[in-house]
Amino acid sequence: MENIKEVRVRYAPSPTGLQHIGGVRTALFNYLYARSKGGKFILRLEDTDRTRYDEKYVQNLYDTMAWLGLDWDEGGDKGGEYGPYVQSERFALYKEYAQKLIENGEAYYCFCDAERLDRIRKIQQENKMAPGYDRNCRHLTPEEVKANLDAGKPFVIRLKVPLEGETKFHDHLLGDITWKNEDISPDPVLLKSDGFPTYHLANIVDDHLMHVSHVMRAQEWIPSTPLHVQMYRSFGWEHPEFCHLPMVNGSDGKKLSKRHGSTSLNEFRARGYLPQAIVNYVALLGCSYEEGKEFYTLAELAENFRLEHLNKSPAVFDYKKLEYYNGNYIRRLSDEELYKWTLPFITGTGDATLEINPENPQPKPKVGPEYSGVRLNDAGEPECVDESMGMTSADVKAALMKLMPLIRERLHFLCDAAEMVRFLFTKPAVLPVEQIVPKKLDAAKTKEVLEAAIGFIEKLPSISEEEGENLAKATAESLGVKLGDFMMPIRMAVTGSRVSPPLIGSILILGADESVARVRKTLESF
Ligand code: GLU
Repeated sequence: MENIKEVRVRYAPSPTGLQHIGGVRTALFNYLYARSKGGKFILRLEDTDRTRYDEKYVQNLYDTMAWLGLDWDEGGDKGGEYGPYVQSERFALYKEYAQKLIENGEAYYCFCDAERLDRIRKIQQENKMAPGYDRNCRHLTPEEVKANLDAGKPFVIRLKVPLEGETKFHDHLLGDITWKNEDISPDPVLLKSDGFPTYHLANIVDDHLMHVSHVMRAQEWIPSTPLHVQMYRSFGWEHPEFCHLPMVNGSDGKKLSKRHGSTSLNEFRARGYLPQAIVNYVALLGCSYEEGKEFYTLAELAENFRLEHLNKSPAVFDYKKLEYYNGNYIRRLSDEELYKWTLPFITGTGDATLEINPENPQPKPKVGPEYSGVRLNDAGEPECVDESMGMTSADVKAALMKLMPLIRERLHFLCDAAEMVRFLFTKPAVLPVEQIVPKKLDAAKTKEVLEAAIGFIEKLPSISEEEGENLAKATAESLGVKLGDFMMPIRMAVTGSRVSPPLIGSILILGADESVARVRKTLESF
């Protein structure tokens, strides 16, 4: 790719839905390309479709980009030399440019009403003909056009697509592409009767006026590109370079969609994914970087991003792989960072409140005070829901901070933290005996284990963790049970759950006295 001109790329979504993995991949590759070349990354809002427009999607766009750390140089909310970057604020401009094409004979007024277009469509359907406009108004005389305009007849403006010949363009990934002009949609509308531009007109005018050097977008836009190339020719403009990105599919080889699982970024956030993990994994969808390296920061990705390293074949979105990245990035967080990231899930605030698609087959994350026993107070500090625990906000925060190093290794998702911290902030209900008795033991032996646990727990505060582990092994051995069968009943008595952070550490944070009290309470049912 020649680099005489400055690299200026854009992510130009239509705010008609929440940001999803496919869009984010497009945004990320544009961002990385801009940063790798010292160019500019533009965020443009293509909000010409007013029927599906919703302000919340605009907010979601800015919010998602900021959450991912993809900062933009020019854009809707930021301005820039070639703004505004919101298409609905540029309508006058599109009219003016559509008019220019009328004047240079590359476009024409079309006065066909909905009824006529409907009739054509039906005839085409009945006769199994290709759909599209029959170019009726392309042949109106200047006098007929004038008469219609004078009569105030509503019109649209259509592009005069050449009837013969071919349109050629080069795609960075797919190479030279040739389309027969007869296969381009017959004379598409550029300006609608209400004066609104179509996607095609606004997109081309903006890419030109905003000096976009490279159009990098999803492969599903390929069929529009010959038309766009024709439009650039009609205006007498040079077109940007094109690079249509590889598809992102689900494991079944079909385009990634809600059927496969989460796709919206909000949902990934609500499920406790870290932006670092998403950025790293999504960057690998259709592109390679250094040999044998798995983990990259955003800056490292930008440094290593090359258009030449894009893959032609579709990328497969693997949820398990993303989970692996997520766990890995969670383990890289400091205690302070982990506390900051997990607190919303523990208290059911922030990211934990984002909407989850109810049709998603994955279970809903168990987050918030109901699961953790901790809520946020008005001052934004964590507090115990159960006041009888007698903990101040400072106690709650201190206990959580102590627990962070213990839970870090066990989290696949940030949301897993809520249930793991629960035992510190609620008195667990005593579990039924049959649940506590391990498969290999009976109730009498389990009772022995729990009785021995009291002495074991009481010694823990005065010995090292390693000595604690050795003591657990020795006690289990003296009872003639496996270590797991010794620990599990204690875990269930102390934490009320089969899964908990490492037991000895958990007991030390909870306190030996409280832990012993819970074991004694459990023993009452034996
Ligand atoms: N507004 C289009 C979209 O929603 C932009 C396509 C393009 O990049 O040209 O994806």
